Amino acid sequence: MTTSILEKAKQIMKNGYICDHCLGRQFAQLTKGTTNAARGKAIRDIFAFAEDGNGKIEIDASNLSGYVFRNSKIKKEKQKLVCKICGNFFDALGVVAKKAASRLSKFEYENFVVGTKVSGDIAGREEVLWEEIGAEHCEPIKAEINRELGKLIEKTTGKKADFENPDIVVLLDMDKNNIEIKPSQVWIYGLYQKLVRGIPQTKWPCRNCNGSGCKKCKNTGKMYPTSVEEIIAKPLLRAFSAPNSSMHGAGREDIDARCLGWRPFVMELKDPVKRKIKLKDIEKIVNKDKRVKVRLVKFCGKDTARKIKAAKLTKTYRIIVDFEKPVKKEDIRKILKIRNLIKQRTPVRVAHRRADLIRERRVLKLTGRIISKKRVEFLIKTEAGMYVKELVTGDDGRTEPSFTGIINNRAKVKALDVVEIGKIKV
Ligand SMILES: [Zn+2]
Ligand SMILES: [Zn+2]
Repeated sequence: MTTSILEKAKQIMKNGYICDHCLGRQFAQLTKGTTNAARGKAIRDIFAFAEDGNGKIEIDASNLSGYVFRNSKIKKEKQKLVCKICGNFFDALGVVAKKAASRLSKFEYENFVVGTKVSGDIAGREEVLWEEIGAEHCEPIKAEINRELGKLIEKTTGKKADFENPDIVVLLDMDKNNIEIKPSQVWIYGLYQKLVRGIPQTKWPCRNCNGSGCKKCKNTGKMYPTSVEEIIAKPLLRAFSAPNSSMHGAGREDIDARCLGWRPFVMELKDPVKRKIKLKDIEKIVNKDKRVKVRLVKFCGKDTARKIKAAKLTKTYRIIVDFEKPVKKEDIRKILKIRNLIKQRTPVRVAHRRADLIRERRVLKLTGRIISKKRVEFLIKTEAGMYVKELVTGDDGRTEPSFTGIINNRAKVKALDVVEIGKIKV
């Protein structure tokens, strides 16, 4: 059973004044291609005609203030009427839009979206109204403000509102009477090589002070002076005028390992002021640093970062292994037959940050070359996630089988490089 539209309108206007926006919004789901203000005005007009026809319309007269009647005795109210729902908020929308546009002008963006934190008072009054008249045809005031403010900002700035993938978000906080401009992250897909040992992939906060700076880290707040992330991010942050970044790599090499294969990553730049930067220009700047080589391939989205994080890519390592006792060709032959599943219990060296469990990974390819009596170079291709150092050492029996175990000759990793990483399609 639905109350007729006019009956409902009558209930809404029975007590106190309501503006066209708030009146029309209660019927927002009816008809398309118009505005709530126009809906409200249309309904109000009907009541004005009825009033001028035979009167007895049973609504608060203030709702018809301003009409010029032929018969009705309703007069224009002397004071400005204040909407019982929004407190005439919509009158201020033009000013808000101008303020937003001026704040936006320092940013580079093609499109935007508006978000509103509606005043608690207004939301509360709207809910009370819905309890009285039902909410079946209405939309929340938040939706109307977002849309109408969006239209005004479009007009002022010439940029387009985009609800799917906005470059920038305009956040209106009604209670605080505040506009916050929040640029969306810039995501860049790239590949890197790490040509030196001794630097981590990402910034590593000092364990002692957790990043705030102490004697141990010489007030840098970091365990290592730099990282692949910082080397790549520094010129990007400058070019995009962004305060912060976060790097998402397809796995990571150990600090003491080089990465000579191209490792995919996504660099996330937070709160960038600029967005139209030629990646090739930045690539050149990064590549002046001799420790890291980078290809900044293209702009991408968050989904690419997710994909890269989840990717299970095969890796090929070159490992220089030192054995405790001299090795013979026969020993190497035995080791090269290791190609079945390797069972690995979480290594001691990572046990502090990973769950203790046993996992199985496959060696896909293995070749070896004796360099000297006790030194052998291996090329190992493995499934993603193999603890390759432990495959060599055996990690005191936690990895089975291992080079150490197979020939009963303690093996140690002298040097390790990632020489190839499986491809990923982005
Ligand atoms: Zn209103
Ligand atoms: Zn510290």
